[in-house]
Amino acid sequence: MAELLVVATPIGNLADFSPRAREALERADLICAEDTRVTLKLLNHFSLKKPLLSYHRHNEEARAEPVIARMLEEDLTVALVSDAGTPAISDPGQQLVDAAWRAGIPVTPVCGPCAAVTAISASGFNAREYVFAGFLPREKKPLREKLQALRKTGVPVAVAYESPHRVRDLVAEFGALYPTCPVLAACDLTKKFELLLRGLPAEIVAALDANPKADKGEYTVVFDFSSLPAEEEPLAPQRSAAEWMLAALLDGASFDEAAARAQEHCPRNEVYRAKLRVREMLEKLGAED
Ligand code: SAM
Repeated sequence: MAELLVVATPIGNLADFSPRAREALERADLICAEDTRVTLKLLNHFSLKKPLLSYHRHNEEARAEPVIARMLEEDLTVALVSDAGTPAISDPGQQLVDAAWRAGIPVTPVCGPCAAVTAISASGFNAREYVFAGFLPREKKPLREKLQALRKTGVPVAVAYESPHRVRDLVAEFGALYPTCPVLAACDLTKKFELLLRGLPAEIVAALDANPKADKGEYTVVFDFSSLPAEEEPLAPQRSAAEWMLAALLDGASFDEAAARAQEHCPRNEVYRAKLRVREMLEKLGAED
């Protein structure tokens, strides 16, 4: 009978490849792999030989249904793996798993490493509840809004994946909003040079700045909001769109530049209203001259 095995693989340390995961790959007729070259290395290391089919985020949509059709037709046991960690967690896989459910094919999770859960477990933060945020927005304004939205959920802990090139700016941005909230930046978990940095955002930024190799490796970042009172607003000063515009005008910006500055911080409709008010005010001032 067809079966889909969702198999977690190591996130850096091959010793974390479980006997059950090995057994699952041995049992599979076919392995759907995010990058067949990466999975081939894993198979070679464990002296396993299996047919591989590439299954990544660019072909996932097109490939899920044909794989399911083949599974049903040929009674195949298929293993789904990603390059590292648990499939379908910020990785390809969800569509195949969903298609298997819809086709009535049994789905068996073969659990194992996951960077998010590993980082939380080592954080010491009270993650009785946590939000998994995946990869956060790259742009400053959406990032800030997302961090604020995470805080507003009221869930004490959030965890995110980040590239080594942006981790410093992420922690700095978080620190601008929530300077008293501890952070764990976990780099290269389970690997030889694993590095866990825990502290206030400013301390983590300083540690990253002091480390010439900080822009290498893989990072998972855990945020602890639990010290903030339930209703407290972010500690960073909050300006209205009109205030952003006036501050920019006082700095010598043109009207359009001032509106653009406000747009970086405030919603479009608020900036629109601020533009009308500020223009009216400027016209009045002009009339009084
Ligand atoms: N599905 C994977 C899992 O279960 O952990 C996550 C895949 S996601 C595409 C890859 C991201 O996970 C990396 O960019 C990094 O942010 C994080 N990550 C993966 N391995 C890591 C490690 N060893 N240490 C810290 N973070 C890691």
